[in-house]
Amino acid sequence: MDMKFIDGYPEYMRQSIKKVEATREKRISLDMEPMSAEEREEVLSTYHPDYVKGGKRSLKVGASKGEMVHHETANILEARPQVNPDEIDLGCINRDVDILIIGGGGAGTVAALHAVYEGILPEDILITTKLRHGDANSMMAQGGIQAADGLDDDPSIHFLDAIGGGHFANKPDLVKALVMDAPRIIDWHQRLGVMYEREDDGHFVERPGGGTSRPRLHSAKDYTGMEIMRVIRDEARNLGLEVEEFSPAVELLTDGDTVTGAILMDLETREYSIIRAKSVILTTGGFGRLHIQGYPTTNHYGATADGLVLAYHVGARITDMDSAQYHPTGAAYPEPILGQLITEKVRGMGAMPVNIDGEAFVYPLEPRDVESASFIRECKTRGKGIETPTGMLGVWLDSPMIEEIHGPGTIKKELIAMWRMEHQFGIDMSQDPILVYPTLHYQNGGVEIDVDGWTGVPGLYAGGEVAGGVHGKNRLMGNSLLDYNVFGRRSGISAARHAKKASPGKITFDHVIRFNSLLDEAGIDTERRSPMLLPDYRGERAIARALNISI
Ligand SMILES: Cc1cc2nc3c(=O)[nH]c(=O)nc-3n(C[C@H](O)[C@H](O)[C@H](O)COP(=O)(O)OP(=O)(O)OC[C@H]3O[C@@H](n4cnc5c(N)ncnc54)[C@H](O)[C@@H]3O)c2cc1C
Repeated sequence: MDMKFIDGYPEYMRQSIKKVEATREKRISLDMEPMSAEEREEVLSTYHPDYVKGGKRSLKVGASKGEMVHHETANILEARPQVNPDEIDLGCINRDVDILIIGGGGAGTVAALHAVYEGILPEDILITTKLRHGDANSMMAQGGIQAADGLDDDPSIHFLDAIGGGHFANKPDLVKALVMDAPRIIDWHQRLGVMYEREDDGHFVERPGGGTSRPRLHSAKDYTGMEIMRVIRDEARNLGLEVEEFSPAVELLTDGDTVTGAILMDLETREYSIIRAKSVILTTGGFGRLHIQGYPTTNHYGATADGLVLAYHVGARITDMDSAQYHPTGAAYPEPILGQLITEKVRGMGAMPVNIDGEAFVYPLEPRDVESASFIRECKTRGKGIETPTGMLGVWLDSPMIEEIHGPGTIKKELIAMWRMEHQFGIDMSQDPILVYPTLHYQNGGVEIDVDGWTGVPGLYAGGEVAGGVHGKNRLMGNSLLDYNVFGRRSGISAARHAKKASPGKITFDHVIRFNSLLDEAGIDTERRSPMLLPDYRGERAIARALNISI
């Protein structure tokens, strides 16, 4: 059945669309220039949400005490741990493994595979995950993955793009690992069966992205994340890796300074299980569901920064958590898809952002932070945004330009997921523009790691979005799928090497007792508990409905 909740645009929005149509032909041949470094700085410091005064505070406790982070992040880092050490008996270990991987998205799956390739038996590895294997941002990724493997490209150029895009705050050794490993990752994917698009001559189709000086984005239509996840999840199944679903980790376990396992909670029965491990890898993804500064998000429900909290409790440092990525093209209309991602590939293929009068106002492929800040300026200061019936603002993304540039039928061929998302609300993006506004997309920073994915805490590794330092203050498109593959792999290998040498440790909650004392000493009197596991609007009743249980 074709379900239509809303049928296209209301008449008053159509008036503006007429102006967009009237200027389209002229804009197709318009040669827009990117902003200068000074102009970018100006638009960022005035309009980007990260620069809003009063949006952050410095942490009062923990290894990164004094670091500025958003209030929403500080609230969970300075909350009481979920578990009460007096109420849980650690005397009975439910499972002993070599490696416990917390988070069953892309990074967790890649880490597990490489731990096996490194010689750990699949039965000595456990992946535990909050929802189902692959219920993750990794599955939702659309546009593609960067790798400098084209004729006119080189990892050194990829390196400069990433460092410039990150405002020179990235850790250079991590970026070097990212770009140097990229071609081998694509190679590995191919051998496993990921179907990246190819030209007729067999070369990869490689597209440009915001802030990249060479086209190096490899994609599978606009569902690249799902294609990679399909293949690596199959490989995990083929190797016999075990995945514990609906079982989030709620706290780590320690022996002195060393991480020795974790405690999991069964979301259905609410029972705890105790897992002892020689190495633990955090691959829990990002923080979109914290809705920093009230923004909607592209992220899945499990993106509540749990790994960040768990790492912080055991003394790991965090980095660049003062910066969040707002993707410029979140859907702004209609309401049911508010904040959902319109992939950057749409702009990469020629769709231009335009205002209520059909005027182009920004170079379409600025880095994401600059592009987002320009959209906010257009709507909030210049008054050139389009208001939706529910009072949201947005600018047009002139998607029909793609068909003008690349020929009729291109959108359905190349952007089928986007087309379907809009079509269910009566909008044909090959005929009409789509309305967009920035949406919270990515956690730029995270747990500090070295090139081997080690957090600095013995026994604890991290990879993927939970980890920081790779992208500085702004990630470029396509570098996150790459990040989870590169640092998933590296953390899996390091954890395997550590596990081969380590013996099982004691398991205690000493770090929880220590962290609670730090909160007391800092005078933090709070009822909050973290990790939060799911956003409160996706609370117990919603889980109960999903699992078909009564509460
Ligand atoms: C809509 C969308 C489109 C994107 N498009 C692109 C793109 O085109 N190119 C690109 O490079 N990047 C893209 N990204 C970003 C990229 O997909 C992610 O940054 C990346 O996949 C993160 O991988 P990950 O494995 O670190 O985290 P995730 O894939 O989010 O996996 C984390 C997993 O950990 C689980 N988890 C969380 N907490 C716990 C806990 N306490 N215990 C156990 N498990 C837990 C989660 O439920 C989840 O399954 C996109 C992101 C989104 C949301």
